[in-house]
Amino acid sequence: MIALQTPIEEIKGIKGIGQRFLPKLKKLNIETVKDLLWHFPFRYEDFSKISKIVDVKINEPVVVQAFVKEIKLQRTWKKRMFIVDALIGDNTGNIGAVWFNQPFILRVLKKGTLANFAGKTVVSKNKLYLSSPVYEIIGRSILENESDTKHTGRLVPVYPETRGLTSKAIRFLIKPVLDNLEKLPEILPKEILEENRFLEINQAIRYIHFPENLQQAQAAKKRFAFEDLFLLQLNNLKQRLQLAREKSFSFKINLDYLKKLINHLPFELTQAQKKTLWEILQDFQKPHPMNRLLQGDVGSGKTIVAGLSALIVAKPFGMTQGKQSAFMAPTEILARQHYKTFLKFFPEFNGGIGLITSSEARIFYGNELETETKKNELIKKITNGEIKIIIGTHALIQESVNFPKLAFIVVDEQHRFGIGQRAALIKKSRRETSTPHFLSMSATPIPRTLSLTVFGDLDLSIIDELPKGRKEIITKIVAPANRDKAYQFIRDQIKKGRQVFVICPRIDPAEIDGNPFIPDVRAVKEEYKKLSKKIFPDFKVVMLHGKIKAKEKVETMKQFNNGAIDILVSTSVVEVGVDVPNASIMLIEGSERFGLAQLYQFRGRVGRGIHQSFCFLFTDSSSKTTHQRLRSLIDAKNGFELAEKDLAIRGPGQILGADQTGMPDLAMKAIQNPELIKSAREAAETVIKKDPELKNHPFLKNRLESFQKEVHLE
Ligand code: ADP
Ligand code: MG
Repeated sequence: MIALQTPIEEIKGIKGIGQRFLPKLKKLNIETVKDLLWHFPFRYEDFSKISKIVDVKINEPVVVQAFVKEIKLQRTWKKRMFIVDALIGDNTGNIGAVWFNQPFILRVLKKGTLANFAGKTVVSKNKLYLSSPVYEIIGRSILENESDTKHTGRLVPVYPETRGLTSKAIRFLIKPVLDNLEKLPEILPKEILEENRFLEINQAIRYIHFPENLQQAQAAKKRFAFEDLFLLQLNNLKQRLQLAREKSFSFKINLDYLKKLINHLPFELTQAQKKTLWEILQDFQKPHPMNRLLQGDVGSGKTIVAGLSALIVAKPFGMTQGKQSAFMAPTEILARQHYKTFLKFFPEFNGGIGLITSSEARIFYGNELETETKKNELIKKITNGEIKIIIGTHALIQESVNFPKLAFIVVDEQHRFGIGQRAALIKKSRRETSTPHFLSMSATPIPRTLSLTVFGDLDLSIIDELPKGRKEIITKIVAPANRDKAYQFIRDQIKKGRQVFVICPRIDPAEIDGNPFIPDVRAVKEEYKKLSKKIFPDFKVVMLHGKIKAKEKVETMKQFNNGAIDILVSTSVVEVGVDVPNASIMLIEGSERFGLAQLYQFRGRVGRGIHQSFCFLFTDSSSKTTHQRLRSLIDAKNGFELAEKDLAIRGPGQILGADQTGMPDLAMKAIQNPELIKSAREAAETVIKKDPELKNHPFLKNRLESFQKEVHLE
């Protein structure tokens, strides 16, 4: 019997033939039997519906069972690329099959081999081909296999692969392990299994790898997705319980003072700002630490909300001495910007505001008393409590700066920090007696279902409107026929002194160049050549992408910032943190390749100055759905609406980036299923209510602990 914790190198099958797979398995982070079995298929190839070749249609996925009649290796014209070119046939006809850069296929699929081929058909040079079909060999010769059907009529799992480790190899490794697996303990409470009619673990793990039909596969997937969501929710609830047990500073709100501050602002707060501010201030009055996420589009005015909160902390009602707040920004530039904001909007605040970054230290004492200072001087003043508001990069609380009266922590652009980092940050700020209130701010619009799961331990405050009077960015979808017109428009704008972003989906032209079946996509290098040589030779065009050295990148951004560059051709690297008010045009090539939320972020790069700004969505696609999707960028009222749409179309990984959430795959997918989230939440609540320490659920407790480690929640 094989146990879950067994390292893979000790599995019998692997000891022999599987040795060479070890490094590859490690690459997929598979080290134990558990890892191997939890390497789930992401889809199933349906070999159960086999078509006759005569019935095969153009552009459709099919499975045929056929003999290899001819097979040969060819090299392509220009590129050094191998094409395996085969003719396969059954008793109704023949069809071609091609594979790119897989010359070894020649050794596997010899003339006379009978196999199932699954793939999509394409037409090239007037011939019908199966393009890179997946195959499963049934037999080597005609006679041997006439009656052998053991490989037909079932679903074949397709796994996330790595070079040299195909789905087929993974199947061969998993099968014997499953056949000799010990009985797994069930971590889900019995009532939950029964109530939701979920598969029991031992059955589920078999069904997910080798289902007899799609229903079985789906039932297994659902169980595992639920399991992950359930664990996430348990973790969230435990975090909340933990915080509710901790003490924090409770403030009485000085309403007169607050009103005065608000009245002195040069603008009226939006309704949403007032609402979220009030949510924060109410948390301040409770004796337990706040743990809140403030979400709002770029430019929605989050800083002022957090700033007003910090001022209340510095001058609470009925206390002679206020407490300290720390503001953390992801970059020095942003930290300085926040500092300036405080000076501008609260010129009379005399509680001491400090700025500390690796390159400078400054202090503001109110009424225009603003000075540069030595870092250790500032630190001294922070330590003795003289400075009430401290602004800096997040190194602030990682370094040895000591805040004796720290009561409020604000972290800006929280989406840049993974959940693990966030947890570490909170931990770090915990004091023995009182835990500071915690507010993170993010401009990434995250749909509610997603934030409930990923940020389920946080309370949410949402600013869902922009301040009045913002100029709308004129957004247009540009078809190929209008390209020249758009270029002419851009030329005029540059002549007026404006600057332009051009965003491309990739750096190099499509790698599989020469492959007649994969269309090329606009690439930075190509566009740069074209724009700088042909279209705008009289303007300064520069390119920017991930493969350029960091120093050069900084230099380019600097030049773009002070207007020395007219057109910046770039990949998505400009998505965050770029602020060039003079840039008024955002041109996006191959716009259908990007997620809506991403396009929205790109567009947010312009419209930051006084000039009317434009966003051009270039697309070669004439598909109706593509145009509808792009249109929603024009129609949507705010980023949240788009994020919801994106979630439905592309899944959560695209919105957050899988790395940032640290979320398991299945849970990520399941987020599109609000019902499942709801039941996971309810189940977690029921369990925790009855048994907060999980004393009666030892397997679950155990699993939760390893889960927290796996997804770096601890
Ligand atoms: P973000 O939410 O992206 O952090 P900021 O806090 O930087 O946004 O605010 C963007 C700009 O809008 C700032 O210049 C700020 O002074 C201004 N602002 C904030 N609130 C309002 C308001 N209610 N009316 C007008 N302008 C505002
Ligand atoms: Mg901001």
